[in-house]
Amino acid sequence: MKIAVDIDGVLADQVAAALKFIEEEYGLKYLKSDIDRARWTFEGKELWSEIGRRLADAEYTLNLPLIEGSQWGIRYLAHHEVFVVTARRPNAEEATRRWLNIHFPTLKGYYRARTGEKQKIPSDVLVDDLDLNIVEFVKSDPERRGILFLHPWSINCTDIEDYSDQVSYCPQWDGVVKAIDDIDRRG
Ligand SMILES: [Mg+2]
Repeated sequence: MKIAVDIDGVLADQVAAALKFIEEEYGLKYLKSDIDRARWTFEGKELWSEIGRRLADAEYTLNLPLIEGSQWGIRYLAHHEVFVVTARRPNAEEATRRWLNIHFPTLKGYYRARTGEKQKIPSDVLVDDLDLNIVEFVKSDPERRGILFLHPWSINCTDIEDYSDQVSYCPQWDGVVKAIDDIDRRG
């Protein structure tokens, strides 16, 4: 089975790193639970453009923390064709590939796709932390399955509930692995 896996929010704990630089650089303290939508802003600044700027710095990107259980999950799924699909910009690609080689050596590919365009990548399953990506993916083919890796920012007023037979909601990696085993068993 072909399984596309998002990086930020699924493999890399990007928000943990962001909360740290927001505190260090702006003196502002937020919690993960404060980040309650994809386009979250603080003091007029867009979180994801702040992150995008820092991802161009190889040192920042190489030091990103892991989402708990992600290494175990990717290793467990290594008998499938598992690859990443990320909206990170090309200026982050070299450091991102190095980070992936260090932490996830079994991954079999690297694709870039904008948010809401991940359905263009050939895959049977998409694991992503944004409903916007999951909805477009499952909508594109009734055979496709989406796994929404649930964080406080994952739900953004999409019609994801209309695709409940194609979508699983998993807040942790053990749930992701279980959902993929189920999809695999049912063929
Ligand atoms: Mg993501």
